[in-house]
Amino acid sequence: MLNQPVAWVTGSSRGIGQGIAWELAERGFAVVVHYHRQAQAAQETAARMTGPVLLCQGDVTLATDRAQMLGQILEKWGRIDVLVNNAGIAPPERLDVLETTEANWDAVLATNLKGPFFLTQAVAQTMIERRTTIAEPAIINIGSISATTASTNRGEYCIAKAGVAMLTQLWAVRLAPHGIRVHEVRPGIIATDMTAAVKPKYDQLLAAGRFPISRWGEPRDVGRAVALLASGALPYSTGDVLHVDGGFHITQL
Ligand code: NAP
Repeated sequence: MLNQPVAWVTGSSRGIGQGIAWELAERGFAVVVHYHRQAQAAQETAARMTGPVLLCQGDVTLATDRAQMLGQILEKWGRIDVLVNNAGIAPPERLDVLETTEANWDAVLATNLKGPFFLTQAVAQTMIERRTTIAEPAIINIGSISATTASTNRGEYCIAKAGVAMLTQLWAVRLAPHGIRVHEVRPGIIATDMTAAVKPKYDQLLAAGRFPISRWGEPRDVGRAVALLASGALPYSTGDVLHVDGGFHITQL
């Protein structure tokens, strides 16, 4: 078994997941850099790390892929200490709730909610089995300000992220007796591929001083929050939400 804690960051080939992977690696975690389609991006993410890294491919919506990835991690390192459910998508088509399709719904709910739920289930079972060999197990879900802010042109996304909020609470209650803490980190507007399409809109809002901290969030801002929660520095907290949004959630647009 590897002699240092292992963190699996889903969707860490780029964007927020990449920032989380780098922050965890810099704090002594062996990191599973996971991707779906962008192998090259995942390799570039891994190349910037000096500690142990495992590249891992799979689709979080598929049970077979989830099982295969967990098996690969356990075979290589024999432990998993932290799962970060980060992989996620925006609706394939941005459509008003009056127009949206079942295809949009299925894609977003499968990736952003079903994947994290069943990955948590599988990883939690492993953590419980091997609990005596890991010090600070934690599961950290990347939610979104969309959990509480209705955007009618991406309703599926809002519903999925509201589900992630409950998923966090459910698993926090269920896993607390096993000493496994479960948290949600809730980003606001972070500069990644996902937000590239809405950049002009948020540039304008920022220029107008509409957010208390007047800048785009960076993936590493989210990474720092995850690293704090993963460190075990907050042993009497579980099921809570850590906002990483420059104060967006306390303002009115
Ligand atoms: P991104 O830049 O588009 O990256 C998405 C990541 O998820 C990529 O690594 C991608 O892998 C992976 N992925 C997508 N579908 C997958 C699947 N079916 N199976 C496995 N991996 C999959 O997105 P991001 O902005 O970093 O967002 C990351 C998370 O933060 C998401 O959960 C998102 O909802 C949440 N979030 C983002 C913002 C924001 O402002 N950006 C705000 C709040 C919350 P490949 O590279 O291989 O395609």
